[in-house]
Amino acid sequence: MYFDYAATTPPNPEVLKTFEAVNRDFWANPQALHRPGARAAALLEQARLQVLTLLGAKKEHRCVFTSGATESNNTALLGAARANAARGKHVITSAVEHASVREVFRFLESEGWELTTLPVNARGAVEPEVLTAALRPDTTLVSLMHVNNEIGSINDVDQLGRVIKTKSSALFHVDAAQSVGKIPLALDGGPVDLLSFSAHKFFGLKGSGALVLKNRINLPPLLRGGGQEEGLRSGTTDPANAAALAKALRLAVEGHDEAFARALTFKERIVAAFRDIPNTELNGTLDGASPFIINFSIADIRPETVLQALAEQEIYISTVSACSTQTATQSAVVRALTGDLERARTSIRISLSALTTADEVDALIQTIGPLIEASRFTRGKGVSS
Ligand code: PMP
Repeated sequence: MYFDYAATTPPNPEVLKTFEAVNRDFWANPQALHRPGARAAALLEQARLQVLTLLGAKKEHRCVFTSGATESNNTALLGAARANAARGKHVITSAVEHASVREVFRFLESEGWELTTLPVNARGAVEPEVLTAALRPDTTLVSLMHVNNEIGSINDVDQLGRVIKTKSSALFHVDAAQSVGKIPLALDGGPVDLLSFSAHKFFGLKGSGALVLKNRINLPPLLRGGGQEEGLRSGTTDPANAAALAKALRLAVEGHDEAFARALTFKERIVAAFRDIPNTELNGTLDGASPFIINFSIADIRPETVLQALAEQEIYISTVSACSTQTATQSAVVRALTGDLERARTSIRISLSALTTADEVDALIQTIGPLIEASRFTRGKGVSS
């Protein structure tokens, strides 16, 4: 029983079929001038248009295929910061961003940019007033995630973006790795300049993602070479990966309403069950958050103990974030949310998807309470013991 879908999802068999078929029938280099190349290029462009259409981004944006959200975040942030360095070197992000955003800003800081890291409110979201106060005439880039990967909090991207656009000329980047295909966000007519995501978060393939950016934005690339993807990402393009991503996105968007509603009922049941377990606290909220991500702190027990005991029952959840370093022992996100080190050291994440079944949720609920009580009894107190 897998409850770690925020880390990754299994590829949809339909997506695998598309990947195989395109690799078999359209394997020519899309840059080549011969007919097979032109056919591969046409398929690539079809996939690109489909992605933009599904994201409501067809009019004002273009799409660059990448290896995933990490690459998209790096391309967007390093590129936007460098492209605008002459105008100003002040950049803004939040305290709960993924490492692939956080670490890029740390690097920019070491290169002479001035970074403001915004706190989050009790829901785990950035307050528009806090953002307003941080914006300056020399702010050139703001990066705020749509859905948080550890606690599921949702930023009001449209509202925050409007603040940025009325108060500054900064570019607005959104890490949407946990929302694309799950929580809608229409891009055309909105304030988002750059948007990153990975296909493997919605039943697509790992090593596949995209950066969607406004047409007028030009960035220096991370990868230089043959100038593919309008010079933004050199390297032979892969129509099979692009078609697989477009297919995964279409299936996710089509099934989105049903998956959302089902996940919400499951989340409600899981949160209600935890209310009956003493000394556990929900990190984040039930309402106004992603129904696919649930995070709890369990006082006095190491999260690994809970993980291992659940794993013995073949129930798989995660601590901190699967994307963080193996050595991380506390959640920076839960710490930023609660200001409580103990809660940050004892948090677990349960994440759901369209594949989660009622039977699995029943099994989790029946198992986890007694298991936590038993762990408390046998292990005694103290997470550091
Ligand atoms: N941003 C967020 C919010 C994520 O959850 C993840 C994946 N955990 C990433 C970025 C990075 O995605 P990838 O590892 O596919 O590059």
